[in-house]
Amino acid sequence: MARASHTSRPRRGILFILAAPSGAGKTTIWRGALKAIASLEFSVSLTTRGPREGEKPGFDYHFVSEEEFNRRLQSGQLAEHDRHFNAAYGTPRAPLESAIREGRDILLDIDVEGARQIRARYPDDAVAIFLLPPSPADLERRLRGRHTETEETIQPRLMRATREASEYPAYDYLIINHDVDQSIHELAAIVDAERLKTSRFRGKIALWQS
Ligand code: 5GP
Repeated sequence: MARASHTSRPRRGILFILAAPSGAGKTTIWRGALKAIASLEFSVSLTTRGPREGEKPGFDYHFVSEEEFNRRLQSGQLAEHDRHFNAAYGTPRAPLESAIREGRDILLDIDVEGARQIRARYPDDAVAIFLLPPSPADLERRLRGRHTETEETIQPRLMRATREASEYPAYDYLIINHDVDQSIHELAAIVDAERLKTSRFRGKIALWQS
Protein backbone atom coordinates (compact mmCIF):
# COMPACT_ATOMS: atom_id res chain seq x y z
CA MET A 1 0.00 0.00 0.00
CA ALA A 2 1.35 3.44 -0.91
CA ARG A 3 2.02 5.58 2.12
CA ALA A 4 1.02 9.21 2.25
CA SER A 5 3.70 11.88 2.16
CA HIS A 6 4.12 13.72 5.44
CA THR A 7 5.83 16.76 4.00
CA SER A 8 2.62 18.78 3.82
CA ARG A 9 1.99 18.41 7.57
CA PRO A 10 1.96 21.71 9.44
CA ARG A 11 4.70 20.87 11.88
CA ARG A 12 8.46 21.14 12.32
CA GLY A 13 10.77 18.48 10.94
CA ILE A 14 11.96 15.74 13.30
CA LEU A 15 15.57 14.62 13.77
CA PHE A 16 15.54 10.84 14.25
CA ILE A 17 18.87 9.90 15.78
CA LEU A 18 19.88 6.28 15.31
CA ALA A 19 22.80 5.65 17.64
CA ALA A 20 24.48 2.32 18.19
CA PRO A 21 27.84 0.81 19.00
CA SER A 22 29.75 0.38 15.77
CA GLY A 23 29.02 -3.07 14.33
CA ALA A 24 25.44 -3.22 15.62
CA GLY A 25 24.08 -3.42 12.08
CA LYS A 26 23.14 0.25 11.91
CA THR A 27 24.11 0.84 8.27
CA THR A 28 21.89 -2.01 7.06
CA ILE A 29 19.04 -0.69 9.17
CA TRP A 30 19.24 2.91 8.00
CA ARG A 31 19.54 1.92 4.36
CA GLY A 32 16.46 -0.31 4.71
CA ALA A 33 14.59 2.33 6.67
CA LEU A 34 15.12 4.98 4.00
CA LYS A 35 13.46 2.66 1.48
CA ALA A 36 10.64 1.58 3.78
CA ILE A 37 9.68 4.89 5.38
CA ALA A 38 8.06 7.64 3.31
CA SER A 39 9.58 11.11 3.31
CA LEU A 40 12.60 10.36 5.46
CA GLU A 41 15.92 11.90 4.42
CA PHE A 42 19.40 10.93 5.53
CA SER A 43 21.87 13.30 7.17
CA VAL A 44 25.15 12.76 5.30
CA SER A 45 28.01 13.23 7.77
CA LEU A 46 31.50 14.53 7.21
CA THR A 47 34.32 12.13 7.99
CA THR A 48 38.07 12.22 7.71
CA ARG A 49 38.34 8.44 7.26
CA GLY A 50 38.65 6.98 3.78
CA PRO A 51 35.75 5.29 1.97
CA ARG A 52 35.20 1.57 2.55
CA GLU A 53 34.41 -0.67 -0.35
CA GLY A 54 30.97 0.14 -1.76
CA GLU A 55 30.62 3.49 0.03
CA LYS A 56 29.56 6.37 -2.18
CA PRO A 57 30.87 9.92 -1.54
CA GLY A 58 27.98 12.29 -0.90
CA PHE A 59 25.64 9.40 -0.09
CA ASP A 60 27.25 7.46 2.77
CA TYR A 61 29.59 10.27 3.85
CA HIS A 62 31.25 13.42 2.63
CA PHE A 63 34.88 12.30 2.76
CA VAL A 64 37.07 15.29 3.70
CA SER A 65 40.62 16.03 4.87
CA GLU A 66 41.45 16.91 8.51
CA GLU A 67 42.03 20.53 7.40
CA GLU A 68 38.62 20.79 5.74
CA PHE A 69 36.95 19.18 8.76
CA ASN A 70 38.60 21.62 11.14
CA ARG A 71 37.70 24.58 8.94
CA ARG A 72 34.01 23.58 8.98
CA LEU A 73 34.11 22.91 12.71
CA GLN A 74 35.73 26.24 13.56
CA SER A 75 33.34 28.22 11.36
CA GLY A 76 30.35 26.72 13.21
CA GLN A 77 29.10 24.59 10.32
CA LEU A 78 28.74 21.39 12.35
CA ALA A 79 25.77 20.59 14.60
CA GLU A 80 27.87 18.03 16.49
CA HIS A 81 31.14 16.19 16.08
CA ASP A 82 33.21 13.42 17.62
CA ARG A 83 36.34 11.44 17.03
CA HIS A 84 36.14 7.71 16.55
CA PHE A 85 39.20 5.48 16.16
CA ASN A 86 41.52 8.14 14.69
CA ALA A 87 38.93 9.70 12.41
CA ALA A 88 36.71 12.76 12.92
CA TYR A 89 32.96 12.67 12.22
CA GLY A 90 30.49 15.54 12.16
CA THR A 91 26.96 16.46 11.12
CA PRO A 92 26.52 19.49 8.82
CA ARG A 93 24.29 22.01 10.62
CA ALA A 94 22.55 23.89 7.76
CA PRO A 95 20.66 20.87 6.29
CA LEU A 96 19.33 19.93 9.74
CA GLU A 97 18.06 23.39 10.53
CA SER A 98 16.40 23.92 7.15
CA ALA A 99 14.70 20.50 7.49
CA ILE A 100 13.35 21.42 10.95
CA ARG A 101 12.00 24.73 9.61
CA GLU A 102 10.47 23.17 6.49
CA GLY A 103 8.86 20.18 8.25
CA ARG A 104 11.12 17.54 6.65
CA ASP A 105 12.23 14.55 8.74
CA ILE A 106 15.86 13.50 8.90
CA LEU A 107 17.57 10.29 10.00
CA LEU A 108 21.00 10.66 11.62
CA ASP A 109 23.39 7.73 11.94
CA ILE A 110 25.76 9.01 14.62
CA ASP A 111 27.57 7.74 17.69
CA VAL A 112 26.55 8.08 21.33
CA GLU A 113 28.51 11.30 21.92
CA GLY A 114 27.04 12.89 18.77
CA ALA A 115 23.56 11.87 19.90
CA ARG A 116 24.13 13.60 23.23
CA GLN A 117 25.17 16.83 21.48
CA ILE A 118 22.20 16.80 19.06
CA ARG A 119 19.71 16.20 21.88
CA ALA A 120 21.19 19.05 23.89
CA ARG A 121 21.11 21.40 20.91
CA TYR A 122 17.66 20.49 19.52
CA PRO A 123 15.76 19.18 22.59
CA ASP A 124 12.27 19.66 21.10
CA ASP A 125 13.06 18.34 17.65
CA ALA A 126 15.22 15.26 18.26
CA VAL A 127 14.07 11.70 18.92
CA ALA A 128 16.85 9.39 20.10
CA ILE A 129 16.74 5.71 19.21
CA PHE A 130 19.33 3.24 20.45
CA LEU A 131 20.06 0.11 18.45
CA LEU A 132 21.79 -2.80 20.19
CA PRO A 133 22.91 -6.18 18.95
CA PRO A 134 21.35 -9.02 20.98
CA SER A 135 24.60 -9.70 22.91
CA PRO A 136 28.31 -8.79 23.08
CA ALA A 137 29.10 -12.15 21.45
CA ASP A 138 26.80 -11.26 18.57
CA LEU A 139 28.53 -7.90 18.15
CA GLU A 140 31.93 -9.60 18.05
CA ARG A 141 30.66 -12.03 15.39
CA ARG A 142 29.35 -9.12 13.28
CA LEU A 143 32.58 -7.17 13.57
CA ARG A 144 34.62 -10.19 12.50
CA GLY A 145 32.12 -10.97 9.73
CA ARG A 146 32.46 -7.63 7.99
CA HIS A 147 36.17 -8.28 7.28
CA THR A 148 37.10 -4.60 7.54
CA GLU A 149 38.51 -4.99 11.05
CA THR A 150 41.83 -6.30 12.30
CA GLU A 151 42.41 -7.79 15.75
CA GLU A 152 43.77 -4.40 16.86
CA THR A 153 40.57 -2.59 15.85
CA ILE A 154 38.11 -5.25 17.06
CA GLN A 155 39.14 -5.18 20.73
CA PRO A 156 38.81 -1.37 21.19
CA ARG A 157 35.49 -1.43 19.32
CA LEU A 158 34.16 -4.14 21.65
CA MET A 159 35.30 -2.22 24.72
CA ARG A 160 33.76 0.99 23.46
CA ALA A 161 30.52 -0.86 22.56
CA THR A 162 30.19 -2.26 26.09
CA ARG A 163 30.65 1.21 27.55
CA GLU A 164 28.16 2.77 25.09
CA ALA A 165 25.54 0.05 25.58
CA SER A 166 25.14 1.07 29.21
CA GLU A 167 23.82 4.45 28.04
CA TYR A 168 20.61 3.14 26.47
CA PRO A 169 18.30 4.35 29.31
CA ALA A 170 19.00 7.94 28.28
CA TYR A 171 17.33 7.31 24.91
CA ASP A 172 13.67 7.58 23.93
CA TYR A 173 13.52 4.15 22.26
CA LEU A 174 15.48 0.89 22.21
CA ILE A 175 15.59 -1.53 19.29
CA ILE A 176 17.33 -4.90 19.81
CA ASN A 177 18.54 -5.97 16.40
CA HIS A 178 17.62 -9.68 16.30
CA ASP A 179 16.42 -9.43 12.74
CA VAL A 180 16.95 -6.67 10.17
CA ASP A 181 13.39 -6.60 8.81
CA GLN A 182 11.91 -6.56 12.29
CA SER A 183 14.25 -3.73 13.34
CA ILE A 184 13.28 -1.67 10.27
CA HIS A 185 9.63 -2.35 11.06
CA GLU A 186 10.13 -1.13 14.64
CA LEU A 187 11.96 1.97 13.45
CA ALA A 188 9.09 2.73 11.04
CA ALA A 189 6.61 2.36 13.92
CA ILE A 190 8.60 4.87 15.99
CA VAL A 191 8.70 7.33 13.08
CA ASP A 192 4.95 7.01 12.47
CA ALA A 193 4.08 7.51 16.14
CA GLU A 194 6.41 10.47 16.60
CA ARG A 195 4.99 12.17 13.49
CA LEU A 196 1.51 11.97 15.02
CA LYS A 197 2.30 13.35 18.49
CA THR A 198 -0.07 16.16 19.45
CA SER A 199 2.83 18.23 20.76
CA ARG A 200 4.14 18.58 17.20
CA PHE A 201 0.91 20.17 15.96
CA ARG A 202 0.09 22.42 18.91
CA GLY A 203 -1.23 25.74 17.65
CA LYS A 204 -0.78 24.71 14.03
CA ILE A 205 -4.13 23.16 13.08
CA ALA A 206 -5.82 26.43 12.16
CA LEU A 207 -9.17 24.89 11.24
CA TRP A 208 -9.71 23.63 14.79
CA GLN A 209 -8.43 26.63 16.69
CA SER A 210 -11.36 29.00 16.54
P1 5GP B 1 31.98 4.05 10.59
O1 5GP B 1 33.39 4.54 10.43
O2 5GP B 1 31.92 2.59 10.98
O3 5GP B 1 31.11 4.40 9.40
O4 5GP B 1 31.35 4.87 11.81
C1 5GP B 1 31.95 4.83 13.07
C2 5GP B 1 31.00 5.47 14.05
O5 5GP B 1 30.88 6.87 13.78
C3 5GP B 1 29.57 4.90 13.98
O6 5GP B 1 29.11 4.72 15.31
C4 5GP B 1 28.80 6.00 13.30
O7 5GP B 1 27.44 6.01 13.67
C5 5GP B 1 29.52 7.22 13.82
N1 5GP B 1 29.25 8.40 13.01
C6 5GP B 1 29.00 8.47 11.69
N2 5GP B 1 28.77 9.73 11.33
C7 5GP B 1 28.85 10.48 12.46
C8 5GP B 1 28.68 11.88 12.75
O8 5GP B 1 28.41 12.71 11.91
N3 5GP B 1 28.86 12.25 14.03
C9 5GP B 1 29.15 11.38 15.02
N4 5GP B 1 29.26 11.86 16.24
N5 5GP B 1 29.30 10.06 14.79
C10 5GP B 1 29.16 9.62 13.53
